[in-house]
Amino acid sequence: MATPRAPQTVAAVNGIATDTSFGAVTPPIYLSSNFAFNGLEQPRAHEYTRTSNPGRDLLADTLAQLEGGAGAVVTASGMAAVDLVLAQLASDDLVVAPHDCYGGTYRLLMARRNKGQFRVALVDFGDADALAAALADKPALVLIETPSNPLMRIVDVRAVAARAHAAGARVIVDNTFLSPALQRPILLGADFVIHSTTKYLNGHSDVVGGAVIAADKRDVEALAAWANIVGTSGAPFDAYLTLRGVRTLFPRIERQQASAAAIATRLKGHAGVTAVHYPGLPDHPGHAVAKTQQTGFGAMLSFELRGGVEAARRFVGATGIFILAESLGGVESLVAHPSTMTHASMDAEARHAAGIHDGLLRLSVGLEAEADLLAGVERGLAAAGV
Ligand SMILES: *Cc1c(COP(=O)(O)O)cnc(C)c1O
Repeated sequence: MATPRAPQTVAAVNGIATDTSFGAVTPPIYLSSNFAFNGLEQPRAHEYTRTSNPGRDLLADTLAQLEGGAGAVVTASGMAAVDLVLAQLASDDLVVAPHDCYGGTYRLLMARRNKGQFRVALVDFGDADALAAALADKPALVLIETPSNPLMRIVDVRAVAARAHAAGARVIVDNTFLSPALQRPILLGADFVIHSTTKYLNGHSDVVGGAVIAADKRDVEALAAWANIVGTSGAPFDAYLTLRGVRTLFPRIERQQASAAAIATRLKGHAGVTAVHYPGLPDHPGHAVAKTQQTGFGAMLSFELRGGVEAARRFVGATGIFILAESLGGVESLVAHPSTMTHASMDAEARHAAGIHDGLLRLSVGLEAEADLLAGVERGLAAAGV
């Protein structure tokens, strides 16, 4: 019986020093697409890399331990992870998803719905009546994203999971924004956790990847079988890099969220900033719930500049440290302008209804020195002239 280990230890050393061939401390990477049989009808542990691969399986095992699940399937992208779960639905099944869900997830849900592959109800999870009405339709699957993108709205995972289960639904949580270092949705009642490992888990902006972690072993087996059928399994080299990123997940995100909190506090005190969306601020509407289900407030935040798109343009051009780019969760700090970048495909009316105004900027806070980041924010604010 293995000694139980803290998640920090699992992240740092799961699979380390287990190589029986040479005693390699770091687990080797097996790029081989296929594995030789011992003899006729005598397969070894692995046959073909679409089906299984030693390094990718080690990443899956590590993610499953970190999330408290029965197992995991590593996919080629975060979208492939969402799709792997959606592919289990039947044509009359209903999916309930947040009205402000990740843009790629929205596009996927609509694309499959338009082909008649399932039904979709988009709901504001902050509206209890709307959620109750959607659950009354007996959905097969309820998708939760918390904190949401880009307004950092918090959903009470325990409460929604309990109500969804009472209605007969399975619950999937997209845990990309916090990672298992700060939130473990399976322990809050979720059946599935999905990740874009592209973000915090890999953490170095050099891999696109994903994973599904399931609470129940039968779900893990079904999802692994499906990933093999359709061929959405992640590549061995990507799995190697991602596990290398996971080794430092905890110290990275702890340092990043400390800087994010300092930046949120600074922005909050500025007259030209009309709103700061960071769950760590005591007056954030989700602060109390976040404290019950997260062990930290994360390193993502957004804020609203007085002066709209022109002020936003001047801010992003002047920080000297926040790179104007999409994505998040890397060692480098990024700034994004949701209304022209991540949420540009929404029409202006829908965007404004969702609270995404033209002066809104989103920050992904990296590992640079906090003082340098704060100085960059000051330069941005001064240039914005707000
Ligand atoms: C990036 C992201 C995805 C999609 O992941 P890819 O790796 O880009 O396919 C899904 N959900 C959230 C919350 C994301 O940020």
